[in-house]
Amino acid sequence: MLNITIQRTDSPKVKPASDKLGFGKHFSDHMFLMNYSTEKGWHDARIVPYGPISLEPSAMVFHYAQELFEGMKAYRTADGTIQLFRPDRNIERMNNTCDRLCVPRIDPADALQAIKAVVDVDKDWVPTEEGTSLYIRPFIIATDSMLGVHPSHTYLFMIILSPVGSYYEAGINPVKICVEREYVRCVKGGTGLAKIGGNYAASLIGQQKAEQMGYAQVLWLDGIHRKYIDEVGAMNVFFVIDGVVITPELTDGNILPGVTRRSAIELLKSWGVPVEERKLSIDEVIEAHKNGKLDEAFGTGTAAVISPIGELFDCGETMVINNNEIGAISKKLYDALTGIQWGKCEDTMGWIEKV
Ligand SMILES: *Cc1c(COP(=O)(O)O)cnc(C)c1O
Repeated sequence: MLNITIQRTDSPKVKPASDKLGFGKHFSDHMFLMNYSTEKGWHDARIVPYGPISLEPSAMVFHYAQELFEGMKAYRTADGTIQLFRPDRNIERMNNTCDRLCVPRIDPADALQAIKAVVDVDKDWVPTEEGTSLYIRPFIIATDSMLGVHPSHTYLFMIILSPVGSYYEAGINPVKICVEREYVRCVKGGTGLAKIGGNYAASLIGQQKAEQMGYAQVLWLDGIHRKYIDEVGAMNVFFVIDGVVITPELTDGNILPGVTRRSAIELLKSWGVPVEERKLSIDEVIEAHKNGKLDEAFGTGTAAVISPIGELFDCGETMVINNNEIGAISKKLYDALTGIQWGKCEDTMGWIEKV
């Protein structure tokens, strides 16, 4: 058990209107902090008013990007209770990311206690409108004041909270995706499986290029063969070919193990829908489209839950998928996942954790 001290703000902010939330633009009144040092381990757990923090310009995070994060949500149900979706999975993944970046792990029970405590202090910040939620961003930064390239000896773990709007205010519209043939997101042995800012920094150029060409996201291919499907933007990706749902396997360590990905696979299996986790080449997708067998494609992630892909652009050719409409499997997954998250359906999978 952590001993968390709580210092409440004496100037609470005015909360934004629920139709003006957007994503990650507003932050709640409080934040959680905890320090690490080699001598004391993780210590000094505290909740304080949200605000700027002070760091030395030489803090290692600014120079060698020893930083990692998580992303999850608190949902308000119709009866007003607040709940989390599979937080144990996020915490396990955070600790796996810690291992990859040589950052000390956090006891999973302590991490869950910290998340629940800060959400509870700011429970009035969990919005009530349909489709809205409180986005939770835990992250860890290296704070040693030193320019030598070495894992830090001190760290700061923080949790900040942001009320976010409905991802699909105007209904679910399939997005246009562009296959990225020049840049790659990660390679075998690299950091693709870790949720770190560094991966995002490296992906911005591809994203910018896609946006300039009028696409919402890029479809990344693997960094070695430059042909196997990796992820779409910052989401895991699924293709439905001839009734079989296919998503890239995690075995090469270049796919981020999404909680939404895992949950989609488990739901599909429970429904008896055939699912394959395997290597899938872009050529196989193109071939399936040519033969009229590419039924659906969609991305999965905490922010959008399910994001249908309506168009895939590659090497001058546009492939329209499912007539640019959301497919039956995408829709069923979206309804089931959001139903459990917002407490509209029974939690038959045991995925819900009340705050
Ligand atoms: C966070 C993330 C995902 C989605 O993971 P969820 O746990 O489903 O939100 C997918 N890909 C990348 C690169 C990510 O950072």
